[in-house]
Amino acid sequence: MRSGRILPVLVAVVLGAGGVLAQSQPRKLKVHISVDMEGIAGVVTGDQLGPTGFEYGRFREFMTREAVAAVTAAKAAGATEIVVADAHGNGQNLLIEQFPADVRIIRSWPRRLGMVAGIDEQVDAAIFIGYHAGTNNTTGVRAHTFSSANLTRVALNGVNVTEGSWNAAIAGHYNVPVVMMSGDDAAIAEVRKAIGNIEGAETKRTLGFHSANTITPQAATELIGQKVRAGLGRLSELKPFKVSGPIAVEVSFKNYMVAEILAYLPLFERTDSHSVRFKARDMAEASMIMNFIGEYRPDITP
Ligand SMILES: [Zn+2]
Repeated sequence: MRSGRILPVLVAVVLGAGGVLAQSQPRKLKVHISVDMEGIAGVVTGDQLGPTGFEYGRFREFMTREAVAAVTAAKAAGATEIVVADAHGNGQNLLIEQFPADVRIIRSWPRRLGMVAGIDEQVDAAIFIGYHAGTNNTTGVRAHTFSSANLTRVALNGVNVTEGSWNAAIAGHYNVPVVMMSGDDAAIAEVRKAIGNIEGAETKRTLGFHSANTITPQAATELIGQKVRAGLGRLSELKPFKVSGPIAVEVSFKNYMVAEILAYLPLFERTDSHSVRFKARDMAEASMIMNFIGEYRPDITP
């Protein structure tokens, strides 16, 4: 290099200025952490996943510890503000008293941005904990997209999505990159194929829909800590996952009637017996329409 003398001086000046800045004015780093449960270490069946399961009480503790491990690591990596979204089942799984006092926690449904509620332009990085493969994946533990009971496919502009890639697209709408995801090997491989090479914490190897070779809860918290620090360390390199509008969203249901009745509305086109398609301006609108489809019932109370 020709400017052999000038460059080291310039580097020293820039680094020096940065050092002073870092001391007097800490850089803001707001992190959003969305926490699902199927990808938590040890989870294999419904026995761990809801209040009627015999192991649920213990596994919401393990889920909480994995989320707290992500929070702790994010703070160690410089996070100045953290929002956690409880994104599984009834949205009331995380034991909120186990989080540091400066963390905000989003609970229960419905909410317009679903699993990533709380994300906006102020957030600098997104992290997904306990995530799982999508409904079209043949190998992932409890693989489904939004509702194992009701949906068989969700696609954005013709490409099948998982909860991971759908939520990454919502984050991308707000210019927020996903830096790390934890879950089984199938879930991590699938999300990387869709959104790029983010950091992954593999909590278990899938052996089938209801079986896995898992690491322990303790090992999972350590691994998640490492990968969160690695992901936030790569923040400048990882780009937001953008799906440009107008977006065509296709949804296939297990049953006929939802598709039939949604097609009464001009927004929805019935594409086959079990499927509808709609156009959304952007991912925020797509998310609201999907949440409407999932949540609306005429007997909702209050
Ligand atoms: Zn879940």
